[in-house]
Amino acid sequence: MRQFIARLLTLFVCLSTVLQLSGCTTLNAATGRREFIFISTDTELSMGQSFNTQLRQQYPVSQDKAKIGRLQKVGHRIAQVSDRQDFEYHFTLVAQDDLNAFTVPGGYIYFYEGLFDKLSSDDEIAAVLAHEVGHSAAKHTVKKFQAALGYDFVAKLVLSRIGSDVARQLASVGGGFIANVAMSAYGRQDEFEADQLGIKYMRLAGYKLDAMIRTFEILKANSKGPEPPSFLRTHPHLDDRIKAVENEIQGGEPKY
Ligand SMILES: [Zn+2]
Repeated sequence: MRQFIARLLTLFVCLSTVLQLSGCTTLNAATGRREFIFISTDTELSMGQSFNTQLRQQYPVSQDKAKIGRLQKVGHRIAQVSDRQDFEYHFTLVAQDDLNAFTVPGGYIYFYEGLFDKLSSDDEIAAVLAHEVGHSAAKHTVKKFQAALGYDFVAKLVLSRIGSDVARQLASVGGGFIANVAMSAYGRQDEFEADQLGIKYMRLAGYKLDAMIRTFEILKANSKGPEPPSFLRTHPHLDDRIKAVENEIQGGEPKY
């Protein structure tokens, strides 16, 4: 009898582990695909909060109230139409000259002042933000971090039951690692998909769609030199992205 109970207990633990892990096999609202992802929204949110704290210690945050207000206004207009509404989006203006923007899990988006200053309209700001919200909504960002953190770390994180354990594990990741992963390139398919979602969100939020192409042209014109901005270090060539976005704006079938 005792052995039976022990076996039953083992079975229960195994089953709940499997359920907990496979419980994240959900329909992705942004892409329409079913996917296997270990990290729940709650865990993703804990990641975002912890990573945001670490990044804010590492990077100077702009204090320019007018620019921050504009970023927040455009950001929230895009966020309202995102396919993913299970967390709030946060927009931070980084006081550095780079032509860059990046996203970490949990809807935390960082926009560099260098890029912000090169853009002349809210539509162009919306184009960058809609692309980043697209990565977040399609879960490209959390999947990139899931892969970079490794199975052991993610499994421990997912199975941690106490909030302080999760917080301690996440705090051990380190700002340098977080920034490196956040700025590393997404795959080709993910970039095209974020552009496609970006156009969808700009359309729904009422921004001028051709601003996305203008933004690419601005980035292209300013990226001459040995090291292109990391926002552009993507697998698909920028010209291919421009063509795909033009096609998307005209309502054509996706070409990739
Ligand atoms: Zn991207």
